[in-house]
Amino acid sequence: MLLDNKQVAIIGGGPGGLTLARLLQLKGANVKVYERDINAAARVQGATLDLHHGSGLKAVEAAGLMDAFKATYRPGNEKGRVLDKYANIVYDEHSIVPSEDFNSYSFRPEIDRGPLRDMLLNSLHAETVVWDSQLLWISQIGDGWIMRFKNGTEATADLIIGADGANSKVRSVVTPIKPFYSGVVIIQGNVENAEVATPSIHKLLKDGKIYGYGDEKFIHVSSKGDGSIDFYISSKKDENWLQTNDIDFTDPIQVNDWFKEEFSGWDEVWFELIRNTGLPLLLRPQYCIPLDQTWEAQPNITLLGDAAHIMPPSGEGVNLAMLDALELCECLNNEEFNNTQSAIASYEEIMRARATKEAEESLEMAQWMHAVDALNSMVQMLNQGQ
Ligand SMILES: Cc1cc2nc3c(=O)[nH]c(=O)nc-3n(C[C@H](O)[C@H](O)[C@H](O)COP(=O)(O)OP(=O)(O)OC[C@H]3O[C@@H](n4cnc5c(N)ncnc54)[C@H](O)[C@@H]3O)c2cc1C
Repeated sequence: MLLDNKQVAIIGGGPGGLTLARLLQLKGANVKVYERDINAAARVQGATLDLHHGSGLKAVEAAGLMDAFKATYRPGNEKGRVLDKYANIVYDEHSIVPSEDFNSYSFRPEIDRGPLRDMLLNSLHAETVVWDSQLLWISQIGDGWIMRFKNGTEATADLIIGADGANSKVRSVVTPIKPFYSGVVIIQGNVENAEVATPSIHKLLKDGKIYGYGDEKFIHVSSKGDGSIDFYISSKKDENWLQTNDIDFTDPIQVNDWFKEEFSGWDEVWFELIRNTGLPLLLRPQYCIPLDQTWEAQPNITLLGDAAHIMPPSGEGVNLAMLDALELCECLNNEEFNNTQSAIASYEEIMRARATKEAEESLEMAQWMHAVDALNSMVQMLNQGQ
């Protein structure tokens, strides 16, 4: 086997990195995951994720975790309501008969990010994840690598996989190609104990999702299993807005003033959200890979997930990361390849082609979701999906 007697280091314990660790361990490989979070209890931010047949669910199945997934996912959480800025419901998936059918290709079960991470962590051998290990740099020694972490420790590996997300440190060792700014900033917040803190939004959510559109921007709200809700406010901004906006997003008065101006004329229900959010709000400028990105495969280092192909959210990111993990594992365990370089080359070619297609679609999606008639486009899209 190509990985016999080799030490594999996965940088990043997100869904992509942990899925790969699990799959490689099932094949008997020596794997460590270096994760910057301080420990397993660190709170995972972000709304729920829907896993898709042919990608995320396929990886879960291959990882032998389908029963654990079925015990953890959030039935009904995929149902959404589309609202206009006045909080009128213009489309309601709750009135559509549910299809909780894992055999149906169109079923996209939702899972919270934290429980997904826990499910994957629980499947790994003890001590696989080395917490509090934020990678600072890597350097080649012989045929392998030495890694230096922020906590002052060092480690070595024969093969490194960069699964360290949007701001990957590993990426620059694989390719000098940098993602470009897509023109969109997402501002992310979370409201704890939403039933009490934001009763109107909580009622509208019905334990699912809300998609609110108007004035070339949108607000997505998502209920989570811990009783909190996550929301994303997305709008078009110049890249330098992050430096020039002059708003202190840790300060409730400034955040409320900013929202009042930015969402002037929107219904009171949206203001309930912002008045009760935890602070600071997180500013996430959205970057995208160039659609023609390519590079020469190396024998001992590669990328997966957002590190390889960041793009504006289109509902596919986690699915792409988990499918990358599955296919990389398959290539590294395929006896047709006589060395790791050809295995990595084969994996990367297919991974890049898939990501390019998805990135193109995600850029188109970012366009229409911030267009004047986004509300109608969204409803049309949902109607076509039925
Ligand atoms: C606002 C928003 C909404 C989204 N909504 C969806 C959605 O609905 N559906 C969907 O499929 N996708 C969505 N995505 C995209 C999705 O979150 C990502 O595509 C997915 O998480 C990628 O997984 P990953 O494992 O590659 O990276 P990540 O999930 O980013 O994981 C990377 C891991 O690496 C760690 N790390 C980072 N740097 C270092 C370092 N230097 N050293 C060590 N560890 C490090 C991080 O702590 C993290 O644990 C959304 C993204 C955003 C920004």
